[in-house]
Amino acid sequence: MILSAVKGMSDLYGSRAIRWTKMEETIKKIVASSNFTEIRTPIVEELALFKRGVGESTDVVQKEMYDFLDKKGRHIAMRPEGTAGVARAFVEHGLGLNEPLPLKTFYIGPFFRYERPQKGRYRQFHQFGIEVFGDETPQIDAELIFTAMRVLTSFGIQAEVHVNSIGCQKCRADYREKLISYFSTKKEGLCEDCRNRLEINPLRLLDCKVCDPKTRCADIPKITECLCDDCRGHFEQLQRSLTIFGVPFVVDPFIVRGLDYYTKTAFEITAITGGSQNAVAGGGRYDNLIHDIGGAQMPATGFAMGLERLFDLIPEDFFELPQVSVGYALSEDAVDQLVAFAKNMAGQPLNFFADYKPKKLKKALQKADRVAAAFTFIIGEDEAKEHLILVKNMETGEQKTFAQNDIETILGFCR
Ligand code: ATP
Ligand code: MG
Repeated sequence: MILSAVKGMSDLYGSRAIRWTKMEETIKKIVASSNFTEIRTPIVEELALFKRGVGESTDVVQKEMYDFLDKKGRHIAMRPEGTAGVARAFVEHGLGLNEPLPLKTFYIGPFFRYERPQKGRYRQFHQFGIEVFGDETPQIDAELIFTAMRVLTSFGIQAEVHVNSIGCQKCRADYREKLISYFSTKKEGLCEDCRNRLEINPLRLLDCKVCDPKTRCADIPKITECLCDDCRGHFEQLQRSLTIFGVPFVVDPFIVRGLDYYTKTAFEITAITGGSQNAVAGGGRYDNLIHDIGGAQMPATGFAMGLERLFDLIPEDFFELPQVSVGYALSEDAVDQLVAFAKNMAGQPLNFFADYKPKKLKKALQKADRVAAAFTFIIGEDEAKEHLILVKNMETGEQKTFAQNDIETILGFCR
């Protein structure tokens, strides 16, 4: 029986792994340059954290959790998103008291959702995200959007920013009422989930991909018409700051985010190229989450970017793959010398590796072609007698013999 990976989860290897790592390194460099520091939290948390931190009524908690009982009967879940774990760590370690605020963090790693696998949607996927604590300003929200766009443009990706304000608990209560009365006459057109949502979390109707009221119904009330003075001022300043950061945006009053803890700013970034799964990042402000999970009242804001979707948007030839060079011994006697040569080449810029099993010249050159070696190094019988090595430039065909220990001259030839 051949075992295969769990459905919706995949292996990363070969040139894809090399490009993936380069993508992650680029992201880390960009965020480090704006003083975001990494935070790593466990892959699993107590299920209760996500119920409280993500929201009982969300699809993520109701349908998409990878959860299980551990050997002591604790109810554990694989993390479906990053914010709840980071917020838990923030509270648990008293970071609000011990670290200078605002605290600017980023994370990158795997997440798990039990969804129907399809292109751009997997059961193990990866996100890069940013969370900032202790800064209530609209300017930091704008900086996060700017940072997400810096990441995308660094890969040559064009994207569109959609912003909204979903208000605070006060203005959202008014909006809820308006939505409930608007949709109460339109229940027939709603899917079963949305009929339930109307009772518990009517804002989520605007997020539904099944009956999609957002595009089918006219004159749905807009939250932007219900904002209190504080929330409206915050939203206007956000837009001014985005303009100063040079980030074009459109106001989309129907962005709601799937998760319950958001307040004020909500945004989505969609790639202009790419298929149907083109929402590449989403985020917003969550001023109530830290308090909801047992901490002090603490403003917070963040976003998450889906790395599979990002990766698919990066042109295949965007990253240069590193070139390798390879060494062969043509006889058993030459192998020790090849070992010594490999030791001397370690850490040199040619990405040298030795293929220790002796082989005939023709076979060696065929193998060098298969790994697309830039330079091939050969120790044949004659070379071995005098501690020499033959170096062949595989592109030009030029070849020359050197003393095996004269690494400097060899590197000069290979430049
Ligand atoms: P969607 O509306 O596509 O289901 P979402 O609202 O569930 O997205 P978020 O929870 O905001 O997504 O996650 C942020 C980003 O993570 C998304 O924009 C997307 O790029 C990525 N993402 C979410 N779920 C998956 C998944 N199952 N597989 C791959 N990427 C995902
Ligand atoms: Mg989803």
